[in-house]
Amino acid sequence: MAKRSPLAEKLDEVKDRIARACEKRKRDPAEVTLVAVTKTAAPEQIREILSLGIADLGESRVQQLTQRAGQLNEFVARRQIHGDAGTMPDKIRWHMIGHLQRNKVKSLLPFVHLIHSIDSLRLAEELDAQADKAGRKIPILLQVNGSEEPQKHGVAIGAAVHLAEQIDSMPGLQLTGLMTMAAHETDPVKIRQAFSRTREVFEELKWNKIGGASLRHISMGMSDDFEVAIEEGATMVRIGSTLFGGGVQDHEGLEEA
Ligand SMILES: *Cc1c(COP(=O)(O)O)cnc(C)c1O
Repeated sequence: MAKRSPLAEKLDEVKDRIARACEKRKRDPAEVTLVAVTKTAAPEQIREILSLGIADLGESRVQQLTQRAGQLNEFVARRQIHGDAGTMPDKIRWHMIGHLQRNKVKSLLPFVHLIHSIDSLRLAEELDAQADKAGRKIPILLQVNGSEEPQKHGVAIGAAVHLAEQIDSMPGLQLTGLMTMAAHETDPVKIRQAFSRTREVFEELKWNKIGGASLRHISMGMSDDFEVAIEEGATMVRIGSTLFGGGVQDHEGLEEA
């Protein structure tokens, strides 16, 4: 057999680690979706990870997401037409994971599968209005500030249930869960706390039937902390640098001009 590529090896390693974290909590690994964060990946790495069967890709900037979706959706479609798709998915599911500005919502909509980063009423209202114009119902996650650092994006834990309720009443939005990040934390206790707090909010939403049957996702965990996140209930992990190598780290910090 041909030697496996470094990316194929990394992907296997990440899948193993996901499976082991699930095992620790007697969870089914099929409950955890791996979102490959491609913001630092080269185009050939993205094509390769698609050919390895990954269908969920995450980007943190609207412009990069829409450009790459334009190119790669067509690449996948061509491979399907030519019947040489192999294990490639029939469709890419694009996840918007970074801070979203209201003036970028409209260009994002045609491409995005799930928006992880809804964190204010104003943003939700803009998205609802654009979704209405497009005749669509857009799946979203409410981003909560699980680590309760004041400078972070995400709605405060104490305000999350109320905002979720408001979003749940908007016809253009489908609330499907919560997202959080503990990126700037180094203390493992605090990281776990950020995740468990987020899960508590999720359980409160469930208890109150906010989001209904669609409420099923907790997006948390990145390269440095995804196993802890899975132990605390993550159903989506967003992994970039472990798969694709370092690159310039930009944990939703820089805003697009
Ligand atoms: C970049 C990014 C990730 C992936 O981070 P890695 O540490 O490279 O795995 C996950 N979530 C968000 C919101 C990001 O911006």
